[in-house]
Amino acid sequence: MSEVWKVPYVNYRIQSKLYGKDILKEIKRVMMDGDYILRDDVERFERTLADFVGVKYAVGVNSGTDALRLALRVCRISAGQEVIVSSHTFLATIDAIVDCGAAPILVDSDWDYNLDVKKVEENVNDFTIAVLPVHLNGRCCNMNYITSVTERRNLILIEDAAQALGAKYKGQKAGSFGVGCFSFFPGKLLGSMGDAGAIVTNNEEIYEKLRALRDYGRVKGQEQVWGYGYNSRLDNVQAAVLNYKFKYIPEWIERRREIASLYNQNLVSILGEHSIPIPPSDGDYYDVYQNYPVRVPYRDKCIEYLNSKGIEVLIHWKTPLNKQYNLGLQGFKLPMTEAISDDVISLPMYQELSDNQVDYVSDKIVEFMKKVEKHEFGYE
Ligand SMILES: *Cc1c(COP(=O)(O)O)cnc(C)c1O
Repeated sequence: MSEVWKVPYVNYRIQSKLYGKDILKEIKRVMMDGDYILRDDVERFERTLADFVGVKYAVGVNSGTDALRLALRVCRISAGQEVIVSSHTFLATIDAIVDCGAAPILVDSDWDYNLDVKKVEENVNDFTIAVLPVHLNGRCCNMNYITSVTERRNLILIEDAAQALGAKYKGQKAGSFGVGCFSFFPGKLLGSMGDAGAIVTNNEEIYEKLRALRDYGRVKGQEQVWGYGYNSRLDNVQAAVLNYKFKYIPEWIERRREIASLYNQNLVSILGEHSIPIPPSDGDYYDVYQNYPVRVPYRDKCIEYLNSKGIEVLIHWKTPLNKQYNLGLQGFKLPMTEAISDDVISLPMYQELSDNQVDYVSDKIVEFMKKVEKHEFGYE
């Protein structure tokens, strides 16, 4: 959050300036009422989220990672079982699988960063219990294909929708196809002021068990516990913050789609359509652009150049999971994920970016690419 950047990667302070006063009122209300654990704001948030995603139930938990852990636990996924999962994902997805004792089976990505659905079924065997697609960067996986495999092979479907609140596949929202997991980490489209997450489902039994699981296994109104549980409740004060922000989500998604469209127009001729995200449409895919990744030659030089112009960028992610040797996943062959890890950068993307800032970032990429064309960095 440093002011040294002309265009920071994300800017939490702008939201504080815009909404801080109103949010403080909400926080003060929670404080004056002393409503901290599993109170009205949590319930209201769960109702709002379930309605937005188009499912019956939502359960607030204390992070996106816990949403995944609890979703896997509630489905009784355990040691000796295999979970087929996107390889190009954040560590948390894999952490959750290993945490419940199961083995992650990494499936390589397609060029749109989501898992290559054609490779899912060849990994199904007698030990397979679930498929866990990650809707990365705000774009749904091809859910027709995935649900056809999970239904035919009788597998559990858990979605990592941490980056995909509001994204749609054929009109249906991310998280509503199976058991859906969301994160409200500050950098996500809907961000709390710390850690927060939620699980959504249409299944009443799963819903009831999740409510127990997040609260030490206790079942409300019963003496018997469901089983060993966690302390993983969504804080009421975070729920109040999220409730306040929720009304802006449709507007923020629209703005992100505008920004993506502007970046795309500015960059398509210089980078090529396969090195930039797929443009926003309202066909089979409705993307929400949680991130805006581009693939560039001479990545280190490119980052250096952009930084020198006051532009902050991130890399998601520099080391593919099969090269994180302490995780023991080096057996997986992931050529596309490795190629992406070699040359991807994420450009600034948040709804408060101005068109001028987007044009500025785009201009600097064009300038950099002109240098590449003049072989200033050598010959590739
Ligand atoms: C953010 C994120 C998570 C983890 O969520 P936390 O709230 O940070 O625990 C999991 N998966 C993906 C794809 C994410 O982007």
